[in-house]
Amino acid sequence: MSFESVIGLEIHAQLLTETKIFCGCSTKFGGAPNTHGCPVCLGLPGALPVLNRRAVEYGVRAALALRCAVQPVSVFARKNYFYPDLPKGYQISQYEQPLAINGCVEYESHGQLQSIRILRVHLEEDAGKSVHEGLSDSDRVTHLDFNRSGVPLIEIVTCPDLRSSEAAAEFFSRLRAILCEIQVSDGSMEEGSLRCDANVSVRPSGTSALGVKVEVKNINSFRFLQRALDYEFSRQVDLVNEGGIVSQETRLWDDAAGRTVAMRNKEEAHDYRYFPDPDLPPLKISEVLIAEAREALPELPEARKQRFVSDYDLPEYDAQILTKSRDLSEYFEQTAQAGGNPKAASNWIIGQVSRKMRELGIEINAVAVRPEALAGLITLVDAGLVSSSAGKFVFERMYESGESAQEVVDAEGLSQIDDEEVLTGLVMAAIAQHPKMVEAYRGGKKGILGFFVGQVMQETRGKANPQLVSRLVRDKLDAP
Ligand code: ADP
Ligand code: MG
Ligand code: ZN
Repeated sequence: MSFESVIGLEIHAQLLTETKIFCGCSTKFGGAPNTHGCPVCLGLPGALPVLNRRAVEYGVRAALALRCAVQPVSVFARKNYFYPDLPKGYQISQYEQPLAINGCVEYESHGQLQSIRILRVHLEEDAGKSVHEGLSDSDRVTHLDFNRSGVPLIEIVTCPDLRSSEAAAEFFSRLRAILCEIQVSDGSMEEGSLRCDANVSVRPSGTSALGVKVEVKNINSFRFLQRALDYEFSRQVDLVNEGGIVSQETRLWDDAAGRTVAMRNKEEAHDYRYFPDPDLPPLKISEVLIAEAREALPELPEARKQRFVSDYDLPEYDAQILTKSRDLSEYFEQTAQAGGNPKAASNWIIGQVSRKMRELGIEINAVAVRPEALAGLITLVDAGLVSSSAGKFVFERMYESGESAQEVVDAEGLSQIDDEEVLTGLVMAAIAQHPKMVEAYRGGKKGILGFFVGQVMQETRGKANPQLVSRLVRDKLDAP
């Protein structure tokens, strides 16, 4: 029997506010432990939370970008549980009445439309952090850092619409791109500002009933997500095939061991005894606030990708890569508009420019050759003034010296050689030097044509017009 996996994600994203969700403490990452705290975020008795308006605006913006219905009234509740990093004894989160519901994320992947429904988006506060490692007495005690306590989060919950680990990782990366694009999150998984819980069950292919799900907690990389889901899929399939049943439980991904480990099962599951927080009135969101947020939404990555395909006539593959970030898209658009050849701009960016970025470990905005300058180079290549192989050399020189393409070409004497007389001389010389190759060619090995073209290109350091050389070589070799 063949099986398919059914996956739903719960994603937590830290909102990019400067202060916490219910107090004025800093949300900055990396401060010395316990330097960002006050009676509110430490849960001291009598401290009163006051909702951060910016956090609400960001939450609304995210909900709209995910095409959710923002609710006119949502309610903050207390989720009660004991944990050392939770000094209040409860987390403030939205439960029965979330900020927004019923959205979806749509995108094309491998030529197919994907539509992943969003169940809900709600606001909540983060907890503190238990530090188990890295201090001199870590073998004996656990330390607590409350800097993160009260940092604003949105939780985004999908319907169980994903069908493979690969699809889940792709969706997660699309979602990350959207959150970064609308500037509500920095998307940093290393710093923990974006993480997800993955719910996964298996069922016989072709059936529609849902199996019992397992929740894998706190995944903070695309690769971990994919590996954890692959592992869970085969673990659950093996279980079912052996006549066992999957039990509903929470598990953790252990990347070093390459497996998930049980954390708690359903019987141990918490009853959080949610109830509305008496310190916080219901959150009312006006039509005006929603309309303003909708108005201010930028173009989203998927829409931009489709515009690149239709406006610039790019293949979907190119458009997908170029819309990975807003900065990259802008670099492309400026180059395409200045150079008048979008496909060439795309090829250069996906090729040489990306190679340079990888080589230097930099982002697109730090690339020394700016769009105008790259467009200048593309124009010279298009006009046949620089061959494309010489173009790569010119690009390197531009990068090192900061000169324009034209300046490099002038200084290096790299203009393409189109002079038929000059090229004929070089072709004749190459033919004279390789009599055996000539014989082989005339004996039927037509591929040897390329060898001679290569000789002339080498001789001219890539400056010769390759089409012209090719014609001249053929003329000479085919001549009786
Ligand atoms: P719970 O009440 O256990 O938290 P929810 O209904 O809130 O469950 O769903 C939590 C997440 O689990 C959602 O992302 C949802 O899509 C996913 N999910 C629910 N049922 C299944 C299932 N049978 N298989 C895989 N994922 C599921
Ligand atoms: Mg849940
Ligand atoms: Zn505080």
